[in-house]
Amino acid sequence: MLKSLFFFVVRFSGFNYIYSKFMGNRIFIVGYHSVRPKIEIDDSVKKVSVDTKMFEDQIKYLINHGHTIIHFSDLAQIKNKKTKKPTIIYFDDGFKDNVLYVLPILKKYNVTGTFFVVPKFADESGGQYMNWEDIKKLSSSGMEIGSHTYSHAILTSIDTRLVSGELVSSKEKIEKEIGNHITTFSYPKGRFNKDIAELVSQAGYLYAITTQYGTNSFDAVVNNQYVLKKIAPRVYENMSDFMVRLYSFNIFYDFRS
Ligand SMILES: [Zn+2]
Repeated sequence: MLKSLFFFVVRFSGFNYIYSKFMGNRIFIVGYHSVRPKIEIDDSVKKVSVDTKMFEDQIKYLINHGHTIIHFSDLAQIKNKKTKKPTIIYFDDGFKDNVLYVLPILKKYNVTGTFFVVPKFADESGGQYMNWEDIKKLSSSGMEIGSHTYSHAILTSIDTRLVSGELVSSKEKIEKEIGNHITTFSYPKGRFNKDIAELVSQAGYLYAITTQYGTNSFDAVVNNQYVLKKIAPRVYENMSDFMVRLYSFNIFYDFRS
């Protein structure tokens, strides 16, 4: 309720526009899961889904409003702040629709995305998730592939030794399959703590994305690179909501830490 009121006020106040003008020195990371043409009301992954039409509109919006779409692996080079509104678009879990619908849309607009896959899902190669052929296709199309653990384990709920295993084995497996280095990690359900972040670093990852809302400072990319924040578009939200999420919604989160 409070959120709806906030969205309503911001949309008509011009505040969003003004705030967006001051966002040039932030790094935007926009996170998705499943993207498909029709989202059923009783769909089990409905909450984290966006339909293809809305997704395409959001990509167009980013391009038309001066965002530069980059990979996580590009972050090291944009420290000089010359890149305009650096923005990463990423996808968790490796849903089959990522290769079916997302890839053609990203190619159409000549932009790139990062796909966090789960080797166990790809090994099982069953229906809902991409298999290794699909993931290789994304990689050979210039997309960045990252790890989302080996088995989608919730890292705060398992033994420390198992955490390292999930981090290292998924990295090795993906690297072997696609023949490229993996440097980016996404925490399943966003669950992590300081020790887990340290293990992510030890496993050889350079960046990790949480489920914390917000945009990122250039300083965070250098000094807090295992606790990156994201923007998450939601099903049934319209383009105005997307704009509010992209800019003003984060004001609460950006300045809290
Ligand atoms: Zn996940």
